[in-house]
Amino acid sequence: MTLPLTLRNLTVRASNGRVLLNVDDLEIRPGEAVGIRGPSGAGKSTLLYALCGLQPNSTGEIRWGETDILSLGEGQRAKFRRENVGIIFQDFLLFEELTALGNAALAAAFGEKKRRRPIRANVERMLGHLGIEDMTRSVDSFSGGERQRVAIARALAGDPAIILADEPTASLDREAADRLISDLTDLAREENKTFIAVSHDLKLLDRMDRVIEIIDGRLAPEAGND
Ligand code: ADP
Repeated sequence: MTLPLTLRNLTVRASNGRVLLNVDDLEIRPGEAVGIRGPSGAGKSTLLYALCGLQPNSTGEIRWGETDILSLGEGQRAKFRRENVGIIFQDFLLFEELTALGNAALAAAFGEKKRRRPIRANVERMLGHLGIEDMTRSVDSFSGGERQRVAIARALAGDPAIILADEPTASLDREAADRLISDLTDLAREENKTFIAVSHDLKLLDRMDRVIEIIDGRLAPEAGND
């Protein structure tokens, strides 16, 4: 399944009411790879997390396919994320004491029973594809690049239509970053996923179909970006 994004009049505020982000209009085609760039503090991560309903003070319309996630309650929003969104956090957020397999298949432990087996199978396939051979070693002994690949496998475990990544190459050396960029863009393309990544990494941005820019909480005009 693929989901187009239609976003209208999105405003995200801080808890004190300050406006952090204001986006009038944004459309992303299903299966499109989109980079988000801009200065530090501009609102890039705020937009990324708003797109999956993780920014509490959001108003407007964020429609993925037929679903306007801002019109859903918390429980329904969490369900939408479980079923449709994989998130790769900047600092990986892995559980140190769990194995690569345990971390990547975490969703299986919480998901519906009938989804557990496909999630585990998917995770093993993905970890193999990403070159993590020793899946049963706990991740506390893993390098940054290996951790990031476990985080990718976890994000993709439930076969989500949408992959969101926050500075996925920031903590990697160049070689590991380049491998990760190829892994992610190839996977997104092969499996027709919508892939949206906040990044300063020009090599990553260069591989995306389109790059949008956030400046001071607003979308800059896109002319010349694609
Ligand atoms: P970027 O990802 O572009 O570096 P962020 O989206 O993280 O920027 O942050 C945008 C602005 O919003 C920054 O000024 C940041 O300090 C502020 N901000 C982010 N989250 C919150 C929050 N929960 N409450 C208050 N301010 C926040």
